[in-house]
Amino acid sequence: MTRGRVVARFGAELIVRDDAGGLHKAVSPRNLVKRGPEHLRAPVCGDEIEYEDGFDKAVLTALLPRRNCLVRPDHRGRPRAGVANVDQVVIVVATRPPPDWGLIDRYLVGTADLGANAAIVINKIDLALAPAAAAHVSETRTLYAGLGYPVLSTSTLDGSGIDDLRARLAGRTSLFVGQSGVGKSSLTHHLDPNLEVRVGELSALTGEGRHTTTHAHLYALPGGGDLIDSPGVRDFAPFAPERASLHAGFPEIAARIGDCRFHNCQHRAEPGCAIKTAVEAGEIAATRLRSFLELSNELRNSVRGGDSMS
Ligand code: GDP
Ligand code: ZN
Repeated sequence: MTRGRVVARFGAELIVRDDAGGLHKAVSPRNLVKRGPEHLRAPVCGDEIEYEDGFDKAVLTALLPRRNCLVRPDHRGRPRAGVANVDQVVIVVATRPPPDWGLIDRYLVGTADLGANAAIVINKIDLALAPAAAAHVSETRTLYAGLGYPVLSTSTLDGSGIDDLRARLAGRTSLFVGQSGVGKSSLTHHLDPNLEVRVGELSALTGEGRHTTTHAHLYALPGGGDLIDSPGVRDFAPFAPERASLHAGFPEIAARIGDCRFHNCQHRAEPGCAIKTAVEAGEIAATRLRSFLELSNELRNSVRGGDSMS
């Protein structure tokens, strides 16, 4: 019996990686996991597994307990497991287009909901910016670093900050998320100059090259650590998050909610609202409260929607 990790899944077929980095085709018995919700029973990219050698393919014998699993709705809105065992979500933004704070906040809640750590990368710092745009980038850094998140600045053009990013990724499994065009694939190629070769290896194993661009897969980075590249979850945002995840994504707001005069304060126009007072005093960013209220609303609506369907 060998320990391994699921690198990719194409329908019923899996690619697993052994501890020495070797890739093997594998299949999973249908009843590998007998308990729990159905969408969590099949192995997904990032899963830690045990397998035995088979006739032409390895056969999974166990799915090891997951540290976490990203669950997304499918096209019918039913939950579907995406990727598993993510330690860190790297939220990539760029200096141009300017960082969208509302989107960063949404990703932070999604990351808390997943139970992973968040890091923020501001890419394209080589670009010359107008003073207002430069100020916005610098405020982004101050705001999120002030909340305790690691904020890195990178350029795939001149290589600045890449060593710091490499160090951040070492020893962990990370997932890059962010809007299209911010430089996620450029960063991935910069971190692993042999990426094309590895993608080729994977395609040769599956016999179908196109899969590697449409399915999630896990790469071992030359500087240490694993990177999950997943087209399906790149734009992941909280999917009906728990109230606790919402609070975990807004630690500075959660810390003061108990100080509001009314226990059911909506932090909009109520007297004695500790959050509004903190915003007026410049201790909480107004944009953060705006994001919080927006996500809070969505959460309330999704809970209501869920009720009416049952
Ligand atoms: P993705 O959609 O997030 O994967 O973004 P890409 O990696 O495809 O990059 C989008 C565009 O931004 C491409 O034209 C890249 O050449 C460019 N780009 C990526 N990183 C940088 C950078 O650090 N500086 C500059 N100036 N351009 C970059
Ligand atoms: Zn309040």
